[in-house]
Amino acid sequence: MAKTYSIFGAGAAGLYTAWRLLNGKVRDTGAKAKQLTAGDTLDLIDFGHYAFNDKNKGTREPGARVCTWHYKNDPDNSYLEVGGMRYSYWNGDNDGKAGGHRLVTTVIKKLGLDKYAVPFNESTNPLYYLRTKNMYLNQISSNNPAPYNVDNYGAAASPDTGFNIVENLAVTAHSGPQTRAEWCNFYANGVIKVNMPDGSAFKKGDKLSDIGYWNLMFDQLGTEGFNYTSDGNGYSSNVINWNSAVAFQANNEFTPGTEYKTLTKGYSYMFTALFNAIEDLAKEKGVILNYKHNTRLHSILQVGDKIRYTTASRENPNKKNGVFETDAAWMAMSRAPIEKVAQATRYEDLEGAVDVLNTSKVQLYLESAILQPSYKIGMFFHEPWWADNAKTPPTYPAQINGYEITQDVIEQLRKAGFPEQYLTDIKKNTDIFETPFASTDTFVKAVELAVNQRLTVEQEKQLLLAAHRNTIGPSVTDMPIRQVVYFGDNALNKEAKKVYGLLAAYDDETYASFWKGMELGPNQPRLRPTSEDFQTLDGPREPSKAMIKMLRTQLAAVHFGPQSDYTFVPEPLETRFMDWSLPPFNAGYHAWAAHYDVCDVQQKIRKPSSLNPGQDANIFIVGEAYSNDQAWVEGAYCTAESVLNDFFGIEPLIDDAEYPFICPYVQPEKEKEKKSNKNVEAAEIV
Ligand SMILES: Cc1cc2nc3c(=O)[nH]c(=O)nc-3n(C[C@H](O)[C@H](O)[C@H](O)COP(=O)(O)OP(=O)(O)OC[C@H]3O[C@@H](n4cnc5c(N)ncnc54)[C@H](O)[C@@H]3O)c2cc1C
Repeated sequence: MAKTYSIFGAGAAGLYTAWRLLNGKVRDTGAKAKQLTAGDTLDLIDFGHYAFNDKNKGTREPGARVCTWHYKNDPDNSYLEVGGMRYSYWNGDNDGKAGGHRLVTTVIKKLGLDKYAVPFNESTNPLYYLRTKNMYLNQISSNNPAPYNVDNYGAAASPDTGFNIVENLAVTAHSGPQTRAEWCNFYANGVIKVNMPDGSAFKKGDKLSDIGYWNLMFDQLGTEGFNYTSDGNGYSSNVINWNSAVAFQANNEFTPGTEYKTLTKGYSYMFTALFNAIEDLAKEKGVILNYKHNTRLHSILQVGDKIRYTTASRENPNKKNGVFETDAAWMAMSRAPIEKVAQATRYEDLEGAVDVLNTSKVQLYLESAILQPSYKIGMFFHEPWWADNAKTPPTYPAQINGYEITQDVIEQLRKAGFPEQYLTDIKKNTDIFETPFASTDTFVKAVELAVNQRLTVEQEKQLLLAAHRNTIGPSVTDMPIRQVVYFGDNALNKEAKKVYGLLAAYDDETYASFWKGMELGPNQPRLRPTSEDFQTLDGPREPSKAMIKMLRTQLAAVHFGPQSDYTFVPEPLETRFMDWSLPPFNAGYHAWAAHYDVCDVQQKIRKPSSLNPGQDANIFIVGEAYSNDQAWVEGAYCTAESVLNDFFGIEPLIDDAEYPFICPYVQPEKEKEKKSNKNVEAAEIV
């Protein structure tokens, strides 16, 4: 009998699941029956409509919570990322300590997209504007402290020092978890390891997963220390009251050198390529691919050995318009949309149907992901007015100039006639290849040392030209724009008139509501309920004139000093905002709540019926929200991969011996102790 599998959500987790259902190898003959073969149907159903290809023009670029926005919506023009924007590159080393997003890097490689992968430059000396003071990181010192009254001269150091102070309660450079598996153990069992002062609300031995991170930071750093770290970090979502054990990992300074990358075609392009690969694979295998857009999963239940679900349309998303059956269903979506689907049947009397999502235990587990609102505003300009080489450079230019040799640079140098031996020497030298340099002198000297020769004047010119980077950043402020990210001219069409992109505001948590208040502008009543505003599915939206003026005022203060006139920042060519706190996502990303064993949740929420005694329904939850890599596409891919490995017998895409896709269930130390005490007692009785 032909089977049907249905995936709800064509974001990262949904597309990855479809791709792997079609290209995955099964472990054994037992799993073969679960594989999709000719004549079977694969439904891919999404509330939105993304511009995947000519047949699917859509309303915005693909990727759901990833969304590339090109100037004038022309893919040849410069672009900005108004959702997810980068990945942490994995060098292919299977060692447990190697960093990087292993599945995203692998997908990019397998789809042939490495040729578009480029470094995402993080500034080594960012510009800050905090409490009306402009300063670069390297200017903060005891003679010139940041304007915060922090204990123990804390304002004389980088704002991120606050993270290290808190981290030192349990983890140091030489002690504590090093690998992904060890961190999972830490989430379950990590405790405060040092004696705490009498005034502290916490004590040695307290379990970190049961402490809110804001509570702990405040306890350790005081009001001013907390505010300095919170303001200076840029991401308010990093310092909310989430699970301290997980926060230690996320804000960990001891993680070895992370190299971020992105795609020259925009991050959305990974999802365009995934969708096209899915269409090709389905055709090749004779699987019927049923892609339905603008269609919302309305409710889901188990009836007999089938999953019965209802759908609704984008125009009328609350009313069901169809009833269907499937053999297995993936809810490839985050907490808010899952809860809305559950609400459809919560108050119904259901005879003969199993309502998997509406039990107290499932609700408890769903609540373990805290929703984090986030907001991005992009602007395009005629000139990069923020740069030190602008026509009239600002008083505080963004610190984005630097050099980095990538494969693309090697190719350019080869074309320019660089000796082949030089290129070989540079490429094999890991201190140079794909390593960012802020200073011209240090960079040239390092290259000369690697090739063991002095460069000619012409070679030096070619090298500096090819390796020069002048984008990204960010600059950070305590004003509502929070982070400014400089995308610059990244158009694929190098011949066209140049246009320079700026992420004028990247903010989250309460700051999102600041901008929300300015979307409509004066004298404009709100005509649509927020619950029906699907801006995130439509695409980035034009703001009010008032919002643009406010943005220019704040950008002027960051780059020209306090009290600067807003006109110092030129009138943008185009401005658009993206409010990720709107439905269906209701959050840009998620964070684990305190008082949860996140390993246990990761294991069980994947198949929510496993939480309800006596139930066994083929309904799966995949995506970033309940992953080991929240706020990253990697998390979405990893949960999807784990479901396919553990419930469908598909072999892992990569060697997972040292890279558990989700945390294994870790026995809490207390249980272990109890068990061994019982064994001792039993031995004594015997
Ligand atoms: C501002 C911002 C910055 C970020 N930065 C990065 C970054 O730099 N790098 C990175 O890797 N990640 C980043 N992320 C996170 C990343 O974008 C997400 O982790 C990832 O895209 C989540 O994928 P997902 O498949 O879990 O869910 P989603 O992207 O939420 O996809 C869910 C899909 O389900 C659909 N859907 C919802 N409800 C229904 C329903 N009832 N029926 C049918 N379909 C439905 C939605 O339309 C959507 O297409 C960022 C996110 C934001 C918002």
